[in-house]
Amino acid sequence: MHAKVTIEPFRIKTVEPIRLSSEEERKDWLQKAHYNPFLLTSDQVIIDLLTDSGTSAMSTEQWAGIMRGDESYAGARSWQRMEAEIQDLTGFPYILPTHQGRAAEHLLYSKLGGSGKVFISNTHFDTTRANIEFSGAQAIDCPVEAALHPEEEAPFKGNIDLEKLEENILQHGAENVGAIILTVTNNSGGGQPVSMQNARAVRNMADKYGLRFILDACRIAENAYFIKQREAGYQDKSYREIAQEMFRLADGAIMSAKKDALVNMGGFLALKELDLALQCRTTLIITEGYSTYGGLSGRDMEAIAIGLREVFDPHYLEYRIRSTTYVGEKLHEMGVPIIRPVGGHAVYIDAKAFYPHIPPEEFPGQALACQLYEAGGIRACEIGSVMFGHYDENGRFIPAKMELVRLAIPRRVYTQSHMDYTVEVFRYLLDQREQVQGFRITYEPPFLRHFTARFEKVN
Ligand SMILES: *Cc1c(COP(=O)(O)O)cnc(C)c1O
Repeated sequence: MHAKVTIEPFRIKTVEPIRLSSEEERKDWLQKAHYNPFLLTSDQVIIDLLTDSGTSAMSTEQWAGIMRGDESYAGARSWQRMEAEIQDLTGFPYILPTHQGRAAEHLLYSKLGGSGKVFISNTHFDTTRANIEFSGAQAIDCPVEAALHPEEEAPFKGNIDLEKLEENILQHGAENVGAIILTVTNNSGGGQPVSMQNARAVRNMADKYGLRFILDACRIAENAYFIKQREAGYQDKSYREIAQEMFRLADGAIMSAKKDALVNMGGFLALKELDLALQCRTTLIITEGYSTYGGLSGRDMEAIAIGLREVFDPHYLEYRIRSTTYVGEKLHEMGVPIIRPVGGHAVYIDAKAFYPHIPPEEFPGQALACQLYEAGGIRACEIGSVMFGHYDENGRFIPAKMELVRLAIPRRVYTQSHMDYTVEVFRYLLDQREQVQGFRITYEPPFLRHFTARFEKVN
């Protein structure tokens, strides 16, 4: 028999109780958190879909690895395992361990960036953009046109627009391009995959103009799943082989291990060039830690080495993508506007279409995130004008390209009934749509404002 139902390919050995709460309690808590779900405590949340970052459940093997962790300052066995695993996966000789992805970004982009430089990407993730802009450089997004149309079904909506990429190289001058960055999967663009063909074309473009090509590889295993399913010529390759092929097209990679390495903390920078690696290593030692642990404990490095193997298990990846698709399909059938097709790690709701009466300057995504919390204790993340909106020189509001709310699914954490509950909360919100109000910002910091901004309701 070939079963239609994809089951969770694991049993639950340890459980973490969830504190259930009432709508009254949640309304009070959210008001005290200034209508920013990032400012809630985890006990106030029932289903936490804020992020898939660092929220994975580790396996028995990873926990066993934690006990084996070698905490030696220099040259620990756990470091050797992690380094060998990453070298084999990426093909890059120089591996720099960091406490998370953004630390690796800081090492690299503070070297490649600086005023006058530009970086061109399918879409820069928020910490990537922040690190680039913090260096004084400019971050330019060139997603393909299809990425901007949530309803349009296309297999690789995470691709970079090659024409726009070349235009930007010519306009800014190749000598001013810090790097071309491919984010796989494209997180801010809907968790959509990038094709191998697109990555190969980026390699060719980089060669044509003598540029560096950096992979932001946080979800490269999930991306490999989509390539195997959707791109001709990859049906008989393993997921790991597909990821290896993509890494070998690039000149370096950054990875937050909090995603596809299935751990709660960690990251790395992997490079091909010795000179650049040595420069980054100097900063690593000053800011993170010695070069054989960076910002990590030995046990963390052990768990990363194991997680990077487990993530390519076909049963895991099939369960993973299927469970995300399940939520997306249910919402779509119910009439909730979502980005189609459903991406790898998250379902993205089009909040502009969900609340058409709320203009972008009143943050429809924030409104939806707040409603999800009040009604169901579900914590989600706005990816719209709170995250990316800004004001131009004349004080005019420039909205984000899309107003999205992301339901990020932690890896190996929630069961199908948690997801059925989430779907039920949406059914309730659909009926309440008209009464929902927008928000205005009452406080914001200069960088990454969505983490700490405060809001009040617009009347
Ligand atoms: C999470 C993430 C990062 C940053 O990694 P952290 O570990 O959160 O610092 C960079 N790029 C992408 C695409 C990410 O998803």
